[in-house]
Amino acid sequence: MLENKNTSRTDISSMGEFGLIDHLTKVFTIEHSSTIRGIGDDAAVLELKNQQVVTTDLLVEGVHFDMSYMPLKHLGYKAVVVNVSDVYAMNAIPSQITVSIAVSNRFPVEALEELYEGINAAVKQYNVDVVGGDTTSSTSGLIISITAIGSAKKEEIVYRSNAKENDLLVVSGDLGAAYLGLQILERERQVFQVNPNAQPDLEPYSYLIERQLKPEARKDIPKLLKDLGVLPTSMIDISDGLSSEVIHLCKQSKVGCTVYEDKIPLDPQVITTCEEFNMESTTIAMNGGEDYELLFTISMEDFPKIKGNPNFSVIGHMNKENEGAHLVTRANTKIPIVARGWNSLKEND
Ligand code: ADP
Ligand code: MG
Repeated sequence: MLENKNTSRTDISSMGEFGLIDHLTKVFTIEHSSTIRGIGDDAAVLELKNQQVVTTDLLVEGVHFDMSYMPLKHLGYKAVVVNVSDVYAMNAIPSQITVSIAVSNRFPVEALEELYEGINAAVKQYNVDVVGGDTTSSTSGLIISITAIGSAKKEEIVYRSNAKENDLLVVSGDLGAAYLGLQILERERQVFQVNPNAQPDLEPYSYLIERQLKPEARKDIPKLLKDLGVLPTSMIDISDGLSSEVIHLCKQSKVGCTVYEDKIPLDPQVITTCEEFNMESTTIAMNGGEDYELLFTISMEDFPKIKGNPNFSVIGHMNKENEGAHLVTRANTKIPIVARGWNSLKEND
């Protein structure tokens, strides 16, 4: 894991707003010919082909992240990932982002350098240009807002609203690991508070922690689907949990859905950790969230094209709207799917 190596402290106020912006953004380079003007003018100028998709996410300290186990470099990386993931979920390719931060003066310049190092690592990984943003002060915690812009041909953009009865429901990767990673980090923090000398062995949870701290967006999937000649009928990324996302697809497409418990893809570390914590792995996979996998529907005719592909699991199919959304358990009982995804507006119960 990436540790905070930077121990010196430069006060933000010593740089001035413009000095700080210059200092933080000088690491970015422009890679896309579609970026006509990036940082430095009143607005960025882009020249994009096809249709544009625009998406934004706001991350608030204490609501979406906790500084005590989220190193700033990882936070910067994740802030970009959650945005480009939404662009891929439209079957589009991201090309530019803007980054806005509100920061209290308890953060030294070095902390922001780390945040921007993480942003820059993600920018390189996902091949996007940082073309602007805003910087302001905050009286409480750190707030980061990123907007991503991407594009795709009109006929290639995939909405949530076009799934049809009998379409197959497919998910990339595996589910539940990011949520368990957070549980492990939370447990270790409590152990550390009691015994600061404890040397935890986190190796059995390495995949879970990585999925929480350094999630990746599935930039490979839109390209893979295109190579396979598959255009999904609907698509969404899994940020809140499988249950919520299934319900979004159903509602917006006006269809029902059947998901089979035994088809839900789980990493071995999810299975062993759920056993250790006496948790139900299906519940974790359905409601955990932050996996940033892609959930999509395809027409049945396209099944041979994805069959056996290790990137995909067919977990169910769509029904008539009046049949509702159900999970068929291993014991072959049918239980209604309800959205229990993580929701920052919901009161803690
Ligand atoms: P304005 O007064 O027009 O809002 P600013 O002085 O805030 O301009 O910003 C100057 C330039 O730096 C603009 O191009 C803006 O988009 C960019 N910028 C400001 N803050 C950030 C940031 N945190 N990250 C990236 N670019 C930024
Ligand atoms: Mg500004």
